[in-house]
Amino acid sequence: MLDHIRQSLEVIAAKHRTRALRAVEMRSGGRLVRDGRELLDFSSNDYLGLAQHPLLVERTANYVRQYGAGAGASRLITGTSALHLEVEDKVAAFKGTEAALLFATGWQANAAAIPALAKAAKGTVIFADRLVHNSIHAGLRASNADAHFYDHNDYGHLDTLLHEHANAPARLIVTESVFSMDGDRADLPRLNALAAQHDAMLYVDEAHATGVLGKGGAGLTADHPGAQIVMGTFSKALGGFGAYIACPAVVREYLVNMCAGLIFTTAPPPAMLGAMDAALELVPGMDEERAHLAALGDRLRAGLQNLGYETLGSTTQIVPLVVGAEADALALGEHLLVSGIAALPIRPPTVPNGTSRIRFALRSTLGEDDIDTVLAAVAAWKKA
Ligand code: PMP
Repeated sequence: MLDHIRQSLEVIAAKHRTRALRAVEMRSGGRLVRDGRELLDFSSNDYLGLAQHPLLVERTANYVRQYGAGAGASRLITGTSALHLEVEDKVAAFKGTEAALLFATGWQANAAAIPALAKAAKGTVIFADRLVHNSIHAGLRASNADAHFYDHNDYGHLDTLLHEHANAPARLIVTESVFSMDGDRADLPRLNALAAQHDAMLYVDEAHATGVLGKGGAGLTADHPGAQIVMGTFSKALGGFGAYIACPAVVREYLVNMCAGLIFTTAPPPAMLGAMDAALELVPGMDEERAHLAALGDRLRAGLQNLGYETLGSTTQIVPLVVGAEADALALGEHLLVSGIAALPIRPPTVPNGTSRIRFALRSTLGEDDIDTVLAAVAAWKKA
């Protein structure tokens, strides 16, 4: 009965693309332990090291002791507590928006909010950057809307597409502010202007910018406000789990009434809320960590470019080392592992063909010497 499932796995195996779940035994600072070996951690999104921060751990534990392990129901039934509303108010204050709404995960927020937003006007046309995350693609597919992809960060192309669909009843532009695989940024002032000019809504995914960039770590939309819908996650720099959409009150009310991925799922549990609350308290005061993280990025990019490697348009804590062929990315990943460095290879279909890479995700708990260790290992591989 499961033959077709086995056959599908064989097709994946024939392409050498089988993936497996491997347990990490311990994490601390910029280190992790896997298979009994300590590795420098260049493959986590815990950019500020908050996942292990005592305040997050303590508040998570306190909320669980006080309020229990589960929320008990969906938001619209009896799952909403004062804690949910409090955290939502704090997110809105952090992001400088009128309102905010929590979601179970970032993947779910994108996959659920985009189709809900597209439903408001029949015939809505959506324009998305070609490199947006899988969860946005899932949202676009679920929306059944007329969706168009513009070339990565090519706003001339976007402008042309917007002109071509000037008569649509509603238009929605979707981008990330920091792109997850290239580590480059969208030009938000340009996008704000284009959206205003074409009377389009702008939806920005700040998964990788939240906590790391913008004033007080509030993301790039905090420095360049204009987007109506700003999505972010608590699972990366904010050290916990869950996500939010920050938006005008009317959009929040609309999503509460129309977004199936919010309405038909259980409310975030107290543990998640405790970590969220603590992270929102700490993050605005972490300018020093953010500056250190930015300096680590500069150091790694300069070193890799010195060795003759392409780092695409990266200007952030995400630094790709593009090697091109899948086999080369795998080989370099293995060499780094042997050298005590966890920096995983990323291959198609996650990234376009011919752009297989090692993706370094930096964290403020690493030091300059750790960057130099990586550069030495890459140099040794290149020489060999
Ligand atoms: N958006 C982007 C750009 C992401 O990189 C990710 C996580 N990989 C998500 C959304 C999903 O967020 P979460 O992990 O909270 O589901």
